[in-house]
Amino acid sequence: MKGTRQADLTDAGLEQIRLRMNERREQLLAEIREVQTRTGEHPYGELAEVPDTADEAVADLLIDVDHAMVDRDVQELRNIEAALQRMDDGSYGLCAHCGCTIEQERMLAFPTATRCRPCQEVYEKTYAHGPTPTL
Ligand SMILES: [Zn+2]
Repeated sequence: MKGTRQADLTDAGLEQIRLRMNERREQLLAEIREVQTRTGEHPYGELAEVPDTADEAVADLLIDVDHAMVDRDVQELRNIEAALQRMDDGSYGLCAHCGCTIEQERMLAFPTATRCRPCQEVYEKTYAHGPTPTL
């Protein structure tokens, strides 16, 4: 099939990534919904209320764990939504920093990547706030 190709990705590669992201998206949505059902009806990222259960200390603890999990899920979901959006507007697979084409291998490994490998390394060195990697 001829036509415009997005960045360096083949149609097959792109389709594979899209399928995987859609699957992951469903999974995340199910997890978030499940936590929301358990903690009451709250919109994404705003699960701030504690339900009226007997043991408040335990409830607080559970809610905190849920929050950490949901926050991570919501963040990942946002990344996936953004990546799907980029697929639609044709900017998927292009480095947001230098504009170069990100290699397909990297996009398959990190479907939500927004930077090419060299730019990501520079970014991590500049904005690293975790433990510094040892030599
Ligand atoms: Zn780059």
